[in-house]
Amino acid sequence: EAVVLTCERGIQVDAFRFYNPTTLYYGKGQIEKHLAEEVTKIGKRVLLLYGGGSIKRNGLYDKVVGILQNAGVSLFELSGVEPNPRLSTVHKGIAICRENHIDLILAVGGGSVLDCGKAIAMGVKYDGDVWDIYQRKGKATGALPLGTILTLAATGSEMNSGGVITNWETKEKLGGGSPYTFPVFSFCDPENTYTVPRDQTVYGICDMLAHCFEHYFHPTRHTPLQQHLIEAVMRTIVENAKTAVENPNDYDARETMMYCSTMALNGMISMGITGDWACHAIEHEISAIYDIPHGGGLAIVFPHWMEHVKNVNPSRFASLAKNVFGVDANGKTDAELADIAIAKVREFYQSIGAPQHLADYQIGDDQLERMASQAVRFGEIGHFKKLGKDDVHKILQAAL
Ligand code: NAP
Ligand code: FE
Repeated sequence: EAVVLTCERGIQVDAFRFYNPTTLYYGKGQIEKHLAEEVTKIGKRVLLLYGGGSIKRNGLYDKVVGILQNAGVSLFELSGVEPNPRLSTVHKGIAICRENHIDLILAVGGGSVLDCGKAIAMGVKYDGDVWDIYQRKGKATGALPLGTILTLAATGSEMNSGGVITNWETKEKLGGGSPYTFPVFSFCDPENTYTVPRDQTVYGICDMLAHCFEHYFHPTRHTPLQQHLIEAVMRTIVENAKTAVENPNDYDARETMMYCSTMALNGMISMGITGDWACHAIEHEISAIYDIPHGGGLAIVFPHWMEHVKNVNPSRFASLAKNVFGVDANGKTDAELADIAIAKVREFYQSIGAPQHLADYQIGDDQLERMASQAVRFGEIGHFKKLGKDDVHKILQAAL
């Protein structure tokens, strides 16, 4: 029997339909081999979208531009996409695409650049302000084709249809997407992540682990395979994270992180389940006001959310302790194991140097009220346990 759940992404059932049309090129040398062909089969007028310049400093920009110029592509550029990409930049991109009859957007960067590309792609085809779609006031009516070259392992945006945009004027950060916004192709070469700084590597790891948690703490049943798939991704992250953080040029560790980040949010572990997503909603309120890195905010919020909800289903936390952190369950109750699991999660965050308190970002209690009410603007959040404004307030208070 299908369990029907209402969630902010619509109605989902555990009898599922899986759709993911993104062509993924993974590993070394794929850009050189396949980029020109993938681009030119779509068109010759390309908007190259990138961030604050990391791709200029590490040589990726020159490589990509060289390949595309050789292939006779006309390049238009929009740089300066912010971490936590802003609606104002999306609007600039839409105008460039419309004025120049762009065929394809090529987003080269981390999740922020990719998400900005998705918003521009939808916005070009939308009759109205693309922000409507993020505010749940409108639906995407199509999108320009988007290709991506990923440079940071974190979001899974390279193989999903979602994206998160910040309206800096109203201090709102909202997720949105459509079936049209899956990238047509994505290139994931771990070598392109060698130059990711230590702190951003840590934030990326926190984000991919958070995507696993969001699915693992699902209110209804998992199939055994699904549970073990999520556990496999989490274990792999936990076992390899430190190496990636300590040795930025370790190919195997960078590859493992990149692969985990894609698998955590490309639909593989989401089949038939909605997951929880309350911590993401809470984190978005923090970044909307304080512009902090997404993964850092998640590392701060998650342990407090776990404390807040653990009694709903301690056995799920017990499985986390046993199957991910290798805790010997002998003679322990689920409630005891739940506490151990939360302690292990904290220990993991500490071991990679993730932030632990809102104070680490100089955030005090003056906006808690606002963040709590904004988080529930569309209604209660979360599914493992439904959270109202008071719950969110308590979690934020504990996270100070
Ligand atoms: P990001 O915001 O894209 O990038 C963070 C920083 O890392 C930027 O300053 C960027 O510099 C730098 N960077 C990226 N690649 C680099 C490289 N190879 N070498 C050196 N520096 C590099 O980080 P992200 O964590 O990937 O994306 C975060 C955003 O994604 C947030 O807005 C979050 O809410 C959203 N998100 C989306 C999804 C989804 O499914 N779509 C899921 C979770 C979160 P430059 O700007 O100079 O390149
Ligand atoms: Fe995330």
